[in-house]
Amino acid sequence: MATVLQITQLGHPLLRQPARPIANVQDPLVQSLVDDLIATVMAANGVGIAAPQVAVAQRLFILASRPNSRYPHAPVMEPTAMINPSVTACSEEVVKDWEGCLSIPGIRGLVPRYKSIEVEYTNRQGHQQKRVLTDFIARIFQHEHDHLEGIVFLDRLESTLDLMTEQEYQRQIVY
Ligand code: ZN
Repeated sequence: MATVLQITQLGHPLLRQPARPIANVQDPLVQSLVDDLIATVMAANGVGIAAPQVAVAQRLFILASRPNSRYPHAPVMEPTAMINPSVTACSEEVVKDWEGCLSIPGIRGLVPRYKSIEVEYTNRQGHQQKRVLTDFIARIFQHEHDHLEGIVFLDRLESTLDLMTEQEYQRQIVY
């Protein structure tokens, strides 16, 4: 049975530390962490979650894009665990769009990200994967990958004028 875990909030020291590589993907503790992270991101209406957000300093995150109340226009994808992920190439084009973070509730920011990226990661079966990600999915990957380096989206803002409360965001941007 998967458990919905408590999400660490901005100020928690683990959100500001680099995470460690995972040596053994088949470890039952890693496998149950994957299940728990998927349950947690679904319960929180997120589109991604990284292990440091549940106070585990390991290089693992879940991409789980689907439309929900926090991201009504998100594309649908199967929740995917990405272990020891890395960006191997990125587009010249950078786009700014709105992001939130389950660890920084109530705030949205307009964050510049590469429009497309080439990535590598190990899947939960232990197989090495190579993918090209674009637009919103590429954005989520970059956001979650930052969590593994102790970086949050606030660090990427060009200006504090690019910040909004969740309430203003819902009023102005979503509809
Ligand atoms: Zn986040």
